[in-house]
Amino acid sequence: MAQAAITIALAGNPNSGKTTIFNNITGTRQKVGNWPGVTVEKKEGRVKKFGYDLKIIDLPGTYSLTPFSIEEIVARDYILEECPDVVIDIIDASNLERSLYLATQMRELGRSKVLFALNMSDVARARGFKIDSEKLSELLDVPVHATVGNKNEGVDALLQKAIDLAASSKKPSTGRKVNYSKDIESAIAELETILTPHFQPDISYDPRWASIKLLENDRIVLERLESALPEDAILPLVSKTKLLRQTLQERYDEDPEIVLTDERYGFIAGIMKEVFTASSRKRIDSSRNIDRVLTNRFVGFPIFLFFIWAMFQLTFTLGAYPMDWIDSGVGGLTSIMDSVLPESLLKDLFVNGILAGVGSVIVFLPNILILFFCIALFEDTGYMSRCAFLMDKIMHLIGLHGKSFIPMLMGFGCNVPAIMAARTLESEKDRLLTILITPFMSCSAKLPVYIVLAGTFFGPRAGSVIFIVYLFGIVTAILTGRLFRTTLLRGADAPFVMELPPYRVPMLKSLLIHMWDRSKMFLKKMGGIILVGSIIIWALSAFPRTTQYSHDYPAAIAHIEAVFSQKAKIADPAEQQALEWDKKDRLLDIQRAMRAEQTANSFMGIIGKAIAPIFAPLGIDWRGGVSLLAGFVAKEIVVSTLGVLHAVDEEGSEALRDALRTSGMTPLAAFAMMIFVLLYIPCIATVATIRKETSSIKWTLFSIGYTTIVAWLMAFIVYNGGRLIGLT
Ligand code: GDP
Ligand code: MG
Repeated sequence: MAQAAITIALAGNPNSGKTTIFNNITGTRQKVGNWPGVTVEKKEGRVKKFGYDLKIIDLPGTYSLTPFSIEEIVARDYILEECPDVVIDIIDASNLERSLYLATQMRELGRSKVLFALNMSDVARARGFKIDSEKLSELLDVPVHATVGNKNEGVDALLQKAIDLAASSKKPSTGRKVNYSKDIESAIAELETILTPHFQPDISYDPRWASIKLLENDRIVLERLESALPEDAILPLVSKTKLLRQTLQERYDEDPEIVLTDERYGFIAGIMKEVFTASSRKRIDSSRNIDRVLTNRFVGFPIFLFFIWAMFQLTFTLGAYPMDWIDSGVGGLTSIMDSVLPESLLKDLFVNGILAGVGSVIVFLPNILILFFCIALFEDTGYMSRCAFLMDKIMHLIGLHGKSFIPMLMGFGCNVPAIMAARTLESEKDRLLTILITPFMSCSAKLPVYIVLAGTFFGPRAGSVIFIVYLFGIVTAILTGRLFRTTLLRGADAPFVMELPPYRVPMLKSLLIHMWDRSKMFLKKMGGIILVGSIIIWALSAFPRTTQYSHDYPAAIAHIEAVFSQKAKIADPAEQQALEWDKKDRLLDIQRAMRAEQTANSFMGIIGKAIAPIFAPLGIDWRGGVSLLAGFVAKEIVVSTLGVLHAVDEEGSEALRDALRTSGMTPLAAFAMMIFVLLYIPCIATVATIRKETSSIKWTLFSIGYTTIVAWLMAFIVYNGGRLIGLT
């Protein structure tokens, strides 16, 4: 009876014990020759064992799978072209870090099923190394088995495992691969999109792997693709590769292959940190020295909190100066427009619609630039992944891995890239959970709302109040995570590797590019959705035109004019200026009252009064209600709508503060409104991203509904609870 045949290749670093294990398995039944075309020894053996006909190949020893040495090319080509059923990677356990470099590349190939043999485990033990092989297996999704080759210990069991693996229907694991940094991943993705449509089943490359190799300028892969792909696919591929390589080169000031290698070592450093302990560790590089402090059990966390605190501090204090300049710029432009343009509907649209709306938001550009700059700094120095590492224990409280913290932290900037960053999570449930809780991380668009409300009602304590709001968001995210983990999305968090890339001194240019990439979105919103939103809101508040006012405003204006010209005649020259200002103030009050009446009678007023009962229990008046409704478009619009509704067209945000103070809103209500803004329905762009990333309408609607209900309940509790204990 013919037995089922299985081909097993042994790969590994030189001197890891491949040949020893090969001899153990095959005994004397071996054939020694050369690999075709090269003078590299090829050993092949056949044995019948465990009911199978086994063909064992001893591959040349290599440290890597680059195309620079014959051994590496032979080993790589064999796995790619012949695709053995199982590749046993013989890992030298006494040299784990170096061995893992080959091991990660082996997995990246994505061809054969891989099994790790932790050989030399006796040497590792003697040196006082402890390797958590279960954890290693879990992290890389590869079976691991310890062996001592020269004593033939564990070799039979290893073979049995290899056979089980070959016989199992499990596909070579595709997940838990090295996750490169954002720029590199997007370059890989770009090449992948070009490659994937042309990949026939007879091409032995995995598209992702081929894309990575192209970025690394791997000539052999390119040649192979050139002969396998249609002519018209090659040209765009080659030019795109060149372009991407150039961009990366400029971004990192380093050859892409070096950057990729560094990042693979980062991945390995992450594994080492989790699976490897040594009583005496010899090789300590500078990254590790820094990590000794920054990821230290005791001081790591306080340092992390300090950085976050410093980030917000910088955002607010440093941002305040340019904010003032832009504010007075907008104010100046408004008064010029006001005096130059003749009284008309068009002027009303321009001054009270566009300038008031867009102007009240653009002042926050400096804050947003600074915030994104800090986030880019965290990412580019490599600190971001340390944050994930530090947060790991806390994140486990909500059943998530520390890696989920990166999307959450990015959520402070903008939820759109944050939700996209959740892609790096492999488990579907982890991703979904992260996507659902990320909107509670207060994004930078909500910041303008807080600054206006807290600045108006809490004065010098505004900073602390805003900090509390942020904290409130984090706590809500954690509680939600816990709730969903125990109900809707039950299950354990999937294990995976946290990359710990080497620390880098960031390049200013790439920091600025990363900052700009994200801030661009803010400006685009400004020119697009916020501009359109402001015009719509202005139109809704300007129409229908009120023809019958409750007071005769023109008469009141005429009266003031008359009274003051009378006073001016008898006043002495020193008092003239004060009189002029006094007059201006009174006229402004009348204009404001008139506009307020117009707005109250407009479509906006009608909508506002219709939805007022929903917001009344939160202490929010109809203007606040309408602003919150409009805020679905983009959170900044809450501020611009308040601006339009309170008809402040004078000195930008200071005027809005005055108007809010006189509108009857209390500090407690302002706080409740901030909580509502913090928690309720994400903006349109975020909703669209959630839809795209979850590819589920159901979860998108769920996210909208859940956040809004939570927002209302929390604001209700805050407002009414506050009143119960006597706050106002
Ligand atoms: P290859 O280059 O990967 O083929 O490695 P070899 O099989 O030639 O082994 C290199 C050396 O390591 C030989 O002297 C082996 O006897 C020794 N060796 C192999 N496995 C082990 C092991 O598990 N423990 C110890 N202490 N030595 C081993
Ligand atoms: Mg050998």
